[in-house]
Amino acid sequence: MAHHLPADNLKKLSESEERFRALVMATSDVVYRMSPDWTVLRQLEGGDFLSGVGEPLTDWMPKYIHPIDQQFVKDAIDDAIRGRHIFQLEHRVLQADGTIGWTSSKAVPILGDNGEIVEWFGAASDITPRKRMEEDLKRARDEAEQQRRLNAIVTSNTPDLVYVFDPNYVFTFANPALLTMWGKTWDEAVGKRLLDNGYEPWHAEMHEREIDHVIATKQAIRGEVAFPHATLGRRVYDYIFSPVFNADGEVEAIAGTTRDISDIKENEQRKNDFISMVSHELKTPLTSVISYVQITQKRAAKNNDTVAADMLDRAGVQLGKMTRMINGFLNVSRLESGRIQIDHEVFDIAALMKEVEDEAKASILTHSIEFESQTGLTVNADREKISQVFNNLLSNAVKYSPSGSPIRVDAKLSGNWVEIAMHDEGAGISKDDLPRLFERYYRVKEAEANHIAGFGIGLYLCSEIVKLHGGKIWAESEPGKGSTFYFALPVHKAE
Ligand code: ADP
Repeated sequence: MAHHLPADNLKKLSESEERFRALVMATSDVVYRMSPDWTVLRQLEGGDFLSGVGEPLTDWMPKYIHPIDQQFVKDAIDDAIRGRHIFQLEHRVLQADGTIGWTSSKAVPILGDNGEIVEWFGAASDITPRKRMEEDLKRARDEAEQQRRLNAIVTSNTPDLVYVFDPNYVFTFANPALLTMWGKTWDEAVGKRLLDNGYEPWHAEMHEREIDHVIATKQAIRGEVAFPHATLGRRVYDYIFSPVFNADGEVEAIAGTTRDISDIKENEQRKNDFISMVSHELKTPLTSVISYVQITQKRAAKNNDTVAADMLDRAGVQLGKMTRMINGFLNVSRLESGRIQIDHEVFDIAALMKEVEDEAKASILTHSIEFESQTGLTVNADREKISQVFNNLLSNAVKYSPSGSPIRVDAKLSGNWVEIAMHDEGAGISKDDLPRLFERYYRVKEAEANHIAGFGIGLYLCSEIVKLHGGKIWAESEPGKGSTFYFALPVHKAE
């Protein structure tokens, strides 16, 4: 049996070496053996990571090590040899597929009987994915940091107030302008809600409801608010709250900007005051001229001077136009300063339409005018002002449609609304202009080009009057085919 022993031992030895190799290979991607001074790579098994070599290789450095890291690897090797301790390093390698990867490499000196190094036995792992992730993370961090610095610069140099709320109304960002306005530091203000930052309850409540609205609708919201500033007195602010979405499309924050528009408002006020003053000043002489014309008209009639009477008639029509224009401006300035008052009364819309119709038929001879109304449509509204809406829409229909064409006005019940439609067969209005018609001083370019007189206040006044009644006003039109202007007032229900 004895002669079997050496073979057995040999087998055992090779088995244990196999096992050892398997163990090392299981925990690392590469195993290698180096000559004592690392000049010769004796063996390398690389798996898929590094291409392996069976033969000893002297020129291994350029084959495996990234050029930039070669010196750094050499230094670490020298250090390990000198200190006779473990070589351990993370460095870049040239992978089997030719791309650059990362490895974490470790080699232990194997000592001979006399304590001399006979070989280095190393194992290296592929840490490329981890390094890539670290690099991505670092890049993302750098970008975020750069973005943060950029935001800081942008938001710190603007006089506008810039801030961010989380969905629980807590400030997560406030720019220097806002902090200055509050007289607080970042640490004092950020992380707090509106009330904690000195907002009055009504004001905080208003903004919190607006934040709810932005979250619910996922839409930005714009508003205007006036409040007393600690040092600057009463200021007017224009603000926009915009939703900030997360990856799932939910609102995760609300970004706001607020601009002090007090100066703009003041200029606007000055302009309005000016228009109002001019209109008032023009009215006095105009009233006298009208009465002189009327007196002279009576005398001309008495004297049977038909030529003079006719001319004075025309003068009267022109004076009427002037009066309406001036009244328009006066109404605008009254509206702007909130001096327009709605005197409610309950009346039948058909009755008012009959009056408007009679008056229109007497004065408008260029167009055929048709009125039609359901009966029993009552509203609780300012009769005088609703009459003005009819007349403004009617005079536009006349102004913007050709002589001889029909104008139809009808009223009907539509749900809880009394809906009035005024239809003409004029040039119509383009899609782009439709939504802007009701803005103050807005005029369609064609109207200007065709020298049709106007200041763009008629529809603005109509819209403001209708809105003061809690009503709606809109227009539908197809260029070339005419327009229909609608307004709707809440129907009055008898108790
Ligand atoms: P103005 O008539 O003084 O310009 P409005 O506010 O009454 O001012 O009207 C605003 C603009 O709307 C007008 O300039 C005109 O271009 C357009 N518009 C109003 N009514 C009509 C209509 N019936 N048909 C076509 N365009 C109209």
